[in-house]
Amino acid sequence: MILNGRALSEQILQDLTIKLSLMNRKPGLAVVLVGEDSASKVYVGSKLKTCERLGIHSQAVLLPTGTTQANLESILIELNQNSAIDAILVQLPLPKHFNSREVLQKISAKKDVDGLSYESLGRLVTGDHQWAACTPSGVIALLQANQISLKGKHAVVVGRSNIVGRPMALLLEKENATVTICHSHTENLSNYTSRADLVVLAAGQAQYFTAEYFSSEAVVIDVGIHRLSDGTLCGDLHPSAFDKVKAYSPVPGGVGPLTIAFLMKNTYLLAKLNGK
Ligand code: NDP
Repeated sequence: MILNGRALSEQILQDLTIKLSLMNRKPGLAVVLVGEDSASKVYVGSKLKTCERLGIHSQAVLLPTGTTQANLESILIELNQNSAIDAILVQLPLPKHFNSREVLQKISAKKDVDGLSYESLGRLVTGDHQWAACTPSGVIALLQANQISLKGKHAVVVGRSNIVGRPMALLLEKENATVTICHSHTENLSNYTSRADLVVLAAGQAQYFTAEYFSSEAVVIDVGIHRLSDGTLCGDLHPSAFDKVKAYSPVPGGVGPLTIAFLMKNTYLLAKLNGK
């Protein structure tokens, strides 16, 4: 079975359009992009386009690669004070000379739409959160929409970044799955993945996970996005696994559209929490 993220994202955006039409004031999202990374530019472009479609006010802050840490931080502090902006997203990765962790702490916790500040992550760990990182939230929605039960199931998350792997593991645990986190130092990775009911791939390794990594009963969520030399997009999942596993999310058309849908949903939620 193919888990269609595009159709679900469309449904989420349509529901949101109705909710947005009932608001007194448009929610505002600021997207900050530093540098010339072509994939990041594409992602930012589709985020802004979706804001336009939904009638969410968007502000693109496009900064040159040479921007300093102090300059970027002062821009974020200004955005925190801007009452037209409810949500702030810094497109990652930042160029190497930035201390990303420090940059992310400058976003007010009330506007931290991807849940990356220490306060947001702390709230997620304690279960006291009202929203969470967009991509893992999208994965949970995709599983729920396909009636894939998580309670008591063994979920393996491959990857432990603060933006995908870690919040993913926490959200799965909140759904009462038993969670194993794997990473680049995990020995005999396939020992874990092949025994899992659910595998979330967020290793960022193009088509790395071949059929041998999974049981035929596994549900596989592919978070990875890569552009192959012929221009086509693919995920971390190797095509040899497509016919073997019980269900998988495709790339493109799986998790990617849901990340954008949850960015819009979280922006709406932050605007409501900020009293709009
Ligand atoms: P990071 O590079 O920050 O993290 C990758 C993680 O995978 C690390 O924890 C790393 O381990 C682990 N890892 C790398 N190689 C292996 C391996 N061979 N075996 C096991 N673990 C491995 O990436 P992100 O979390 O930011 O993103 C992951 C992927 O998801 C990327 O392809 C990215 O483009 C994509 N992405 C897609 C989104 C979407 O909307 N669909 C949104 C965000 C990201 P270690 O910690 O030891 O280094």
